[in-house]
Amino acid sequence: MSIILTHIATIDGKIKRSSLEVLTHCREEAKKKGHTLAAVVLDADPGSFTSTLEKYGTSVIYTIKNPVFKNHLNTPVIEALALVIEKSKPAVVAFASTEAVKDVMGALATRFNAAAVPDVSSFHLTNNGLEAMRPVMASKILAKTSAVADMVFVSVRSGSYDATEAETSGTAEITAVPFEFDEGGLKNILKEVIKASGDKVDLNEARVVVAAGRGVKDDEGKKLVEELASLFNGAIGASRSVVETGMFDPSTQIGQTGKVVSPELYFAIGISGAIQHVAGMVNSKVIVAINKDEDAPIFQYSTYGLVGDLYKILPPLIDQLKTAKANA
Ligand SMILES: Cc1cc2nc3c(=O)[nH]c(=O)nc-3n(C[C@H](O)[C@H](O)[C@H](O)COP(=O)(O)OP(=O)(O)OC[C@H]3O[C@@H](n4cnc5c(N)ncnc54)[C@H](O)[C@@H]3O)c2cc1C
Repeated sequence: MSIILTHIATIDGKIKRSSLEVLTHCREEAKKKGHTLAAVVLDADPGSFTSTLEKYGTSVIYTIKNPVFKNHLNTPVIEALALVIEKSKPAVVAFASTEAVKDVMGALATRFNAAAVPDVSSFHLTNNGLEAMRPVMASKILAKTSAVADMVFVSVRSGSYDATEAETSGTAEITAVPFEFDEGGLKNILKEVIKASGDKVDLNEARVVVAAGRGVKDDEGKKLVEELASLFNGAIGASRSVVETGMFDPSTQIGQTGKVVSPELYFAIGISGAIQHVAGMVNSKVIVAINKDEDAPIFQYSTYGLVGDLYKILPPLIDQLKTAKANA
């Protein structure tokens, strides 16, 4: 029996949804192969997450408590995870795919002479490693990738799996791993975290994303986009065109050179569907496109397409949603 270890990322006192998605999938894979599902959580207060991890069917939980984990810094995360990996000798270490994980995973894979398969949209365990599907070439194609190694690191795109609690859960074996860290020895220090203004809902974690493109021409259009997003408690995204004009913050850009998102519902509003944008949203579960050009490429990717002027379509849509919400 081997250990399947999932890294649990936390933010503002909560476990990231993307980590619970990965944990859910690891639980299914561990069950199929008769492996043990383990999780590791690094936080200033990791004990507050163990009951949730138990509900997701985790049998073994490693907690590492240190105030240094309040903000992400590669070095302490690498050192802390290395301690748990040494201890548990997992066959697979799975992460939610984020910017922070890219550096961490590479460094750990090198240290443990392990295979690393980043940014996959699905994976399953094989008898000697794992097999994964990776969107490549700006998500134009999927590459089937096999890793054959005693230890494999894998990171999974958010939205690739649903996060569901286990049907039956028990009490996990919890190990608090002691971890001292001297920040004085750091070569890079974190001076300040600058959050984008108005960045209310994290794009990577949002279940609904409302994204604006060049068709959104002015403050009136921007307000409609914001109103639609707030009705769903969703996040606001943007194409590069409207980021370049300064209408939307660079942190909202979705695509090849922006963020990759895969929410349950994605609105593409006045977005043509250039491949560089599509690369960042094509894995969304339901895509609704609003565009006045019926030949816009975005319609090839959308579940529902509304052909027309966004300034005429959005106000009644918002009104109807408000009414539906009020009557719910
Ligand atoms: C190397 C590279 C990297 C790139 N990375 C990214 C990236 O990460 N993300 C990204 O988004 N782009 C990226 N781009 C740019 C990309 O190629 C496109 O130029 C960009 O996505 C187009 O943005 P858009 O769809 O908002 O604008 P446009 O292509 O101009 O489309 C605007 C759309 O709005 C519609 N429209 C206009 N008015 C209305 C209205 N009133 N009602 C309804 N519809 C309306 C039009 O019919 C049109 O389809 C990159 C390009 C390169 C070369």
